[in-house]
Amino acid sequence: MAKAQHRRETRWARRSQLRLITSLRRVRNCGAPLDPDAGVTLALTTGVDGSRSAGYSGLASCGSVWACPQCAAKIATRRADELSTVMRAVEEAGGSAFLLTLTMRHGRGDRLGLTKDERARLRRLEENRSRYEAANSNLWEFDEREAEADAIEEHTLRQARGCWDVLSDAWARVTSGGAWQADQELFGGLLGWARVVEVTDGENGWHVHIHALLCFGQQVSAELVAGSVGARMFFRWRAALKRKGFHASEEHGCDLRRVQLGDGDLADYFTKIAHEVTGSHRKEGRRRGGRTSMQLLADAVDTYEESAVARWWEWEQASEGRRQLTWSTGRRDLRKLAGLGAEATDEDIAADDLDADVRLGLSVDAWDYVERAQLGPELLAVAENGGLDAARAWLTIRDLRWHYTPDEHPARPRDPVG
Ligand SMILES: [Zn+2]
Repeated sequence: MAKAQHRRETRWARRSQLRLITSLRRVRNCGAPLDPDAGVTLALTTGVDGSRSAGYSGLASCGSVWACPQCAAKIATRRADELSTVMRAVEEAGGSAFLLTLTMRHGRGDRLGLTKDERARLRRLEENRSRYEAANSNLWEFDEREAEADAIEEHTLRQARGCWDVLSDAWARVTSGGAWQADQELFGGLLGWARVVEVTDGENGWHVHIHALLCFGQQVSAELVAGSVGARMFFRWRAALKRKGFHASEEHGCDLRRVQLGDGDLADYFTKIAHEVTGSHRKEGRRRGGRTSMQLLADAVDTYEESAVARWWEWEQASEGRRQLTWSTGRRDLRKLAGLGAEATDEDIAADDLDADVRLGLSVDAWDYVERAQLGPELLAVAENGGLDAARAWLTIRDLRWHYTPDEHPARPRDPVG
């Protein structure tokens, strides 16, 4: 409980510091009241075991899994739940699961990747090029000078691509082609995959890699999967990187191990992200794999050193709009196997309001005070420990106004699920 409160306070503090340095407008607005005139609501839920959880509604959320400590934790919690459900479904189906990690070699000077705008522009230029090509082969008229200018711009953007852009292409190559088609029929058939991208900042620059959960319909050993499907996936991975001027080392490029629910699987991975405390790296020590994004943030806001802030900006710009988690679809849909509905976007999960048994409306002034004094986490803890009565008392001694909301009714335990 104390740990959870510490995490909450740290994230809260980090987000307000982040607002001062972020280069992204959406992130700057995260946590601000959606409607400044309407105020903010304190929402409280009591679980079947009597424990309470509190949160605020009426606040904007940025939905950034990469840059925002608050939204990243909320989204990771949901993803961890979903991946646990998937692992259970695979086990029930008599299948087995493996975690494949693919990494790439990099150099200090490698750029992390194109910005969101650059990626959109590149897609546009690619479309233009196919239009010009079609026009050319059909002898239709087109503006040759414009085509030439577009070609130069496209070339320049391609040259500026970084590790993350190449990684996306390489993964597409890993999961396509004849060998992959055949491999998906092995070991009782591939039930599906889920893939996350992880980036750290190490001594040799950006370290970008993929963790992919592969689920097969039968019980099969890691050695067998590693020696067949895994080896061929790595072969395509390496070939794709090589074409773009990057490398995957034989030693460190590939790792495949069998995983179980709660033991090294992707759900575990997301739980770790959700619990990651975003404190100073000096206290936490640096992980061997390099600084995580939240450690980069800590460095930037703790030191305000130019190089640390610049690194953070590069991180924000390159990561914006990229997917953290991707699922296989069609016949090999793990979400469907597990009975999960359509995938919610990061933004939707971050914007999801808490279920609440009771709510308390805070006046605009009250919220303003709580924000300025950075007491948001404290008020939540008060409500969780003593209920809405305690929250009202807390507000009253500070001379802050609150009001009942229409759906407020006495706290009662929620009905057990299922
Ligand atoms: Zn956010």
